[in-house]
Amino acid sequence: MSTLADHPDYSLYSNANTFLRQALDHRPALSSADVVITGLPFDLATTGRSGARLGPDAVRRASVNLAWEEKRWPWDFKLLERIGLVDAGDLVFDCGEQAQFTQRVEDYATSLLKAGKTMLSLGGDHFVTLPLLRAHAKHHGKMALLHFDAHTDSYSAGSRYDHGTMFYHAPKEGLIDPACSLQLGIRTDYEKANHPFEVINADHANNLSIEQIVQQIRQRIGDKPLYLSFDIDCLDPAYAPGTGTPVGGGLSTNRILQILRGLQGVNIIGMDVVEVAPAYDNSEVTALAAATIAVELLHLWAVKHR
Ligand code: MN
Ligand code: MN
Repeated sequence: MSTLADHPDYSLYSNANTFLRQALDHRPALSSADVVITGLPFDLATTGRSGARLGPDAVRRASVNLAWEEKRWPWDFKLLERIGLVDAGDLVFDCGEQAQFTQRVEDYATSLLKAGKTMLSLGGDHFVTLPLLRAHAKHHGKMALLHFDAHTDSYSAGSRYDHGTMFYHAPKEGLIDPACSLQLGIRTDYEKANHPFEVINADHANNLSIEQIVQQIRQRIGDKPLYLSFDIDCLDPAYAPGTGTPVGGGLSTNRILQILRGLQGVNIIGMDVVEVAPAYDNSEVTALAAATIAVELLHLWAVKHR
């Protein structure tokens, strides 16, 4: 089957935008995929400003600008020679049927994982990670979580299910093991006495050396199956203004990329990049940061698995 990737002469911006201009949908192409990109254009669990439903589209468009570099600096291999990458498009759901969304994500992810695929999902608000974790835990057992965010998303206000409570519910459901999990970039209040996750708060993440941070993460997660969830508001609003709940005092894109590259060899089994809300973005800076982080995650996965 002919895909956009087979036609490098196409203008970068012609035809459909897919992530790194990879094949969209098409089941035959999916069978050749190691990693499947899926957009989850859902923002009905947002507590602040909405708009993350447009995130997948914005990240894909920004990723087109990264597609020309066959071998990405500073890696020493060509990503697409090493892994099969397919953009499966967005998971379609009806806003009027939002109660079904959680189960639909879980069922969709379960089918991909059963087929031996690895998922890199694009949010959507951060709530989408909960059904993704449920599917991944069914497949991989209890996982370690590496969570980049300004917020712990572990708020425990009764039985709320929204984009700030997934990591309260996930350990209770047995999906992740907090003893092997770490949150980085936190700069909002949380109840430290009862907090099961190790935290590298934003001050430490900005002041420690990259080596110290990487060592601390590696010590915590070991070689357990690792789900990596990246809320774009981990970045400072200077680097990611286009998000629903920005918080000052965050990390730079450059610092995040160095931390991620330092994690080569960790056992990533699932990934997401969430909370890009393009209506608040300037010059696509947030979407480009999210696309760049997603591409770095693909390299990180490729180093370990292919
Ligand atoms: Mn956040
Ligand atoms: Mn979050």
